[in-house]
Amino acid sequence: MKTLAAILVELGRPLVFAEIEVPVLKPGQVLVEVAFSGVCHTQLLEARGYRGEDKFLPHCLGHEGSGVVLEVGPGVTKVRPGDAVILSWIKGLGGDVPGTTYSWNGRTVNSGAVTTFSRHSVVSENRLTVIPADFDRRVAALIGCAVPTGAGVVFNTLQPSPGQSLAVFGVGGVGLCAVTAAVLAGCHPVIAIDRHTSRLELAQSLGATQTIDIRHQDPVSTIRSTFPAGLDFAVEATGVPAVMDQALSVVRAQGGTTAIVGNAHFGALWNLDPRQLNQGKRILGTWGGDNAPDRDYPRYCRLITAGKLPVQHLLTREYSLVQVNAALDDLESGITPRPLINLASISPEPAAAN
Ligand SMILES: [Zn+2]
Repeated sequence: MKTLAAILVELGRPLVFAEIEVPVLKPGQVLVEVAFSGVCHTQLLEARGYRGEDKFLPHCLGHEGSGVVLEVGPGVTKVRPGDAVILSWIKGLGGDVPGTTYSWNGRTVNSGAVTTFSRHSVVSENRLTVIPADFDRRVAALIGCAVPTGAGVVFNTLQPSPGQSLAVFGVGGVGLCAVTAAVLAGCHPVIAIDRHTSRLELAQSLGATQTIDIRHQDPVSTIRSTFPAGLDFAVEATGVPAVMDQALSVVRAQGGTTAIVGNAHFGALWNLDPRQLNQGKRILGTWGGDNAPDRDYPRYCRLITAGKLPVQHLLTREYSLVQVNAALDDLESGITPRPLINLASISPEPAAAN
């Protein structure tokens, strides 16, 4: 069986569309027909070569999606053909198969345990979570990375109490999910910081109580002028070391906590003033929001269905698979916080999402 995929052949070059041959499933693997895939900064960093040397070229890409199970390999018990599933890079229960290879006119195309920029994908059992059959597949794709990372860093990593203050530096897909989670957790104020008007407006519509446009205001002095004692929490979702420094600067002494979520470019270093740590400020790392997918993804589905985590508003533009390079460009320029690829679409043009 052949399928259409967008493949990274050369760093810094557009992805290439190719018909690839789907391999026979190994134990612990599942064949999924992918419905939708999100596009996140990890794919941008990979495609642009910002993650350093890439010894797996050519390879498949994409690590958040939704779809339907078509076939299961030996030993798979978690999913059955016909199940609606989330595809996620974060490991859950089930067989852990590191990757697979597809063939492309005699060449080998590498693929990790989960990839989503193809109509069909061979996925490790533990990267799948079953969702209700009627759950919106567009929104489900976001639960592969943006929602668990952004909401997870609030619910699982920081665990704020109602009334505690929280700032989010960088309100792209992950940052906006952090804003919605902070609002749901009862944080106040919730401050969104970015350099794109449209993303700040979106953050405000999702419940951010204050927005700071860094093109016009310095976030550190602006926050200090209103909150001289500092904030309880900050979430850094840009991957820029200078912004990590700002996120640490705005939290309070003696217990203020900054979580670093953003992925820095390969080789980038953070030069921080260690006296901030002597003041009792804390820095936390997070493994994609510290989720247990089998516990947390159904929880996110329920919150989204109940309207308490309105992450569907992140989906402002939809692309067909052959538009994936435009999706990467639009993510980089900030036109949309989270491009969504419709794998069933053959349209050559991006479309506004409804
Ligand atoms: Zn991601």
